[in-house]
Amino acid sequence: MKTIPVAQPVLGEEERANVLAALEAGAISGFFGDYLGRFEREFAAWCGCSHGIAVSSGTAALHVALAALEVGPGDEVLVPTLTNMATFFAVHYQGATPVPIDIETDTLNLDPALLEEKITPRTKAIMVVHLFGHPVDMDPVLALADRHSLAVIEDCAEAHGAEYRGNRVGGLGSIGCFSFYANKIITTGEGGMCTTNDDALAEKIRTLKSLAFGSENKFMHSAVGFNYRMTNLQAALGCAQMAKISQLIQLKREVAQEYNRLLTDCPELQLPVEKGYAHNVYWMYHVVLAGHAAGRRAEVMAKLAAAGIETRETFIPYNLQQHLPLAAHIGREDCPRANAVAQRGFYLPSGPVLAQEQIAHIAEQLLTAVAAT
Ligand SMILES: *Cc1c(COP(=O)(O)O)cnc(C)c1O
Repeated sequence: MKTIPVAQPVLGEEERANVLAALEAGAISGFFGDYLGRFEREFAAWCGCSHGIAVSSGTAALHVALAALEVGPGDEVLVPTLTNMATFFAVHYQGATPVPIDIETDTLNLDPALLEEKITPRTKAIMVVHLFGHPVDMDPVLALADRHSLAVIEDCAEAHGAEYRGNRVGGLGSIGCFSFYANKIITTGEGGMCTTNDDALAEKIRTLKSLAFGSENKFMHSAVGFNYRMTNLQAALGCAQMAKISQLIQLKREVAQEYNRLLTDCPELQLPVEKGYAHNVYWMYHVVLAGHAAGRRAEVMAKLAAAGIETRETFIPYNLQQHLPLAAHIGREDCPRANAVAQRGFYLPSGPVLAQEQIAHIAEQLLTAVAAT
């Protein structure tokens, strides 16, 4: 029996042709070749942003964004506790202190109502994460940031094409950060992008991501830079993926709608939502066990694995991390909603090319497993 994976990149003839063309032209690095600039322009325009700066990963995008905003030691950054830990790592790389924020139990995104009480004179930025493809409720976040002069970074690694009140994520705050890892909405293998509408920030990110070479004398560096360049080979893949991004998102939405239809009547399953302000791209179809199934995640996941269905647990929240340098004032129980979801949630296969029969099989096995708990 072949296992149905949680994610599947969709790679075809165009990806192959582009990568070979870059290879044959000898344009393989992060300095040379036409695909890089094209990918940056196309992706930024698609996000409704005036600038796109390609980088080597989503983590690199988050780090260079914070560096460009001059977030450093002594500064505090508000971050949702439930995220890929890369969001927190970026803050640590800059020597700043991340302050975890609890979530809304329906969207699983940070709860904007919990931000203000965490603001101190040291707070420099808010990093929002559009988790699993659902956009954060940005208006209250932006209003608060405005009142306290805070930068807003969007971690869009899971949300390419998600919309907040009709606007695509990536240009809603100061800087948007995307990932093109193999399981993301589109992929370049490894890769990332910063998007912004701020000319000065764009220039700074572009300099910092490439060793901050000097503009007059190349080797008189203008700052301590990073080598976070994406290669032209990766950008070649990215250009091919851009041709199908809208279709991939449409397919993911259809997969989610089918899961919704099949799973909707089960009180033991909390399904993903799509708020009135949101266009959800359903990066992963994430469910939370409830009622008598609440404490039985391991059992349910084991049953699905035995039926050839790969699933993955929810991220472990920052407050529950045992090996990270959490500030002394951060307690394990500070974000109880995220802790509860993280113990009961997991995601189902969510690839855009799942067949109808596969979705039906997964839903049936899930309902059977839940009923047996
Ligand atoms: C994947 C992901 C990242 C990291 O991106 P990489 O390209 O793997 O470095 C950061 N934040 C979130 C929310 C992610 O899902």
